[in-house]
Amino acid sequence: MIVVRSTAELRRALAEPRRQGKSVGYVPTMGALHEGHLALVRAARGRDDVVVASVFVNPLQFGPNEDFETYPRDEERDLGLCEKAEADIAWLPTAEELFPPGFGVTVAVPRLSGVLCGEGRPTHFAGVTTELSKILILLAPTAVYLGEKDFQQLVVMKAVVRDLGLPVEVRSVPTVREVDGLALSSRNAYLAVDERPVAASLFRTLSELATQLRAETEPVEAVLAEGRRALTEAGVNRIDYLELVDSETLDPVPAATPGNRLVAAIGIGSTRLIDNVAI
Ligand code: AMP
Repeated sequence: MIVVRSTAELRRALAEPRRQGKSVGYVPTMGALHEGHLALVRAARGRDDVVVASVFVNPLQFGPNEDFETYPRDEERDLGLCEKAEADIAWLPTAEELFPPGFGVTVAVPRLSGVLCGEGRPTHFAGVTTELSKILILLAPTAVYLGEKDFQQLVVMKAVVRDLGLPVEVRSVPTVREVDGLALSSRNAYLAVDERPVAASLFRTLSELATQLRAETEPVEAVLAEGRRALTEAGVNRIDYLELVDSETLDPVPAATPGNRLVAAIGIGSTRLIDNVAI
């Protein structure tokens, strides 16, 4: 595995494989890598000739009172894990190069970015779509691998690629979980020992609700209300949203149909967690 920082080094590293017509699979991450990220790298390894994984804590996607400064960073450990998952190139872009002084472009998908996580984090998705669009243009990979864990991000990025006609395939990878169902997340490190079992109630509740929704014995709103009660009883302090949505438009749906997504964001202490399951 080679480690590059500048886009010039990145282009040099890719020049020969591109000349040979090899496919390039790209995995964007913010580091603090775990098995969820590595599943993306392995998915790319299984399908593409050259695998590029980036580690970059994107300043644009953090709000003013969010955890940009304290977000976990451990470059050496991350590089070791990229190597273990058999990435060919680890790219550590710099903010100076991606967003030099005077950078003034925003790529945004307002219709999909203002709902769900976008309600509490109004600038978040524009930060993601601006950064990832720039990277997809610079790197021009064959495919980009994104986790279903961040379902709204996946939907928003598919819209960017489709609407701008970017020549890249978006490939999604199922969520990797702990044995008790908690979705792996770099932010799980923020959970206190006594908050950890509460965190597991999120996936448990979503799975139970999904079973009920598939059975269609009760109205959607009644099932969701029951879910909100169950989460509160389990010790969740805040429910930002718990919704059944269309998996392309993210609009709430009145009745469950296959392909809908049950999505949630909750607060436990000062930690915010998201998760989702397919219907
Ligand atoms: P992040 O480092 O949080 O920006 O995540 C980078 C990529 O890894 C995103 O596409 C995430 O959706 C994906 N990812 C994060 N956690 C998981 C997980 N538990 N399972 C699968 N993919 C994940």
